[in-house]
Amino acid sequence: MRRPRIRPVFDGLPAYLPSRPVRSATGEFHPLAANESPREPLSGILAAVNGAAGTVNRYPDFHGTELTARLARLHGVAEDQVALGAGSIALVQMLFQAVAEPQAEVLHAWRTFELYPVLADLAGVRSVRVPLVAERHDLPAMARQAGDRTRLVLLCNPNNPTGTLLDADELRAFVDRIPEDCLVAVDEAYFEYVRHPAARSAIALLADRPNLVVLRTFSKAYGLAGLRIGYLIGSPYLVAQLRKACLPYSLSSVAQAAASAALHHREELFARADDLVAERTRVRRVLIADGWEVPPSEANFVWLRLGAASTAFGAWCADRGVAVRTFPEEGLRVSLGSPEDNDAFLAAAAAWRRKAR
Ligand code: PMP
Repeated sequence: MRRPRIRPVFDGLPAYLPSRPVRSATGEFHPLAANESPREPLSGILAAVNGAAGTVNRYPDFHGTELTARLARLHGVAEDQVALGAGSIALVQMLFQAVAEPQAEVLHAWRTFELYPVLADLAGVRSVRVPLVAERHDLPAMARQAGDRTRLVLLCNPNNPTGTLLDADELRAFVDRIPEDCLVAVDEAYFEYVRHPAARSAIALLADRPNLVVLRTFSKAYGLAGLRIGYLIGSPYLVAQLRKACLPYSLSSVAQAAASAALHHREELFARADDLVAERTRVRRVLIADGWEVPPSEANFVWLRLGAASTAFGAWCADRGVAVRTFPEEGLRVSLGSPEDNDAFLAAAAAWRRKAR
């Protein structure tokens, strides 16, 4: 039987399946695989969700007018510098679509957010991967690699899954080395968790760099992963072009209302982010005291490069009801969750260590 013909590149695409929920024999479940907020939504946000639910017989505001205006105010940019997307991943896809000419190349670090090369394949552009050095982007090597065919450079800051940060000076020097006809996108999905004094959002660099865009999301510190809202800030020209690639009405009215409410409740949500950062410090300290190597993280997860032992340790955690993200032969990314979830992970890690001794 002949099958419908689809592009051969699909054969090589991984099915993106985040770790399945795991439950230990005792019924424990600690979801530390997806970098979500561990906290339940604030009541003010639930009220906004409920309010918007009454209008779902109508299409949402195509332009996300209110949310766009609030975001522009928050970041001190004009409204025509903000593009919305159904998750920041939708905006990454829009960027790929915008640059996907035949022969075009996209440059990014490796390892970084695993969906970049998948979206490159889908868009039909070649992705060029520049290895991390000491768990960080190798910016000099990336600048050298950027050539005539490079149409987009993606920087993930802080980097998923290593948690490492590019500081303000490094970032500026890098962007200034990239030709102006090549886009540079800085993915700041985790920027609300950054506390390093030398850090600065790439938003501060936008004014005189028309080839730069910055991506943010409501999925992490704003706690709205289930509603799919991201945004991009860039020049009015790029934003106008990218908006054309947005799937019409993909940002639901419920999502728009929840995101607006989340901005209204920013202080409370960012106090929660502070709590998470305190957990990050605690978890890392305990792990290091027990002999683990843990690179400094500026995100809501920590990275353990375990090489060949990664899969076995991931399974060990799963047996104890702790779902972490395993990258076979490389390492594990462990999200920071509630103190109880984090304690469950630390207990699993300590037991693994004792077994090894
Ligand atoms: N960028 C990075 C670096 C991420 O880690 C993620 C989520 N894991 C995303 C983008 C996508 O986030 P969302 O689509 O939920 O906004």
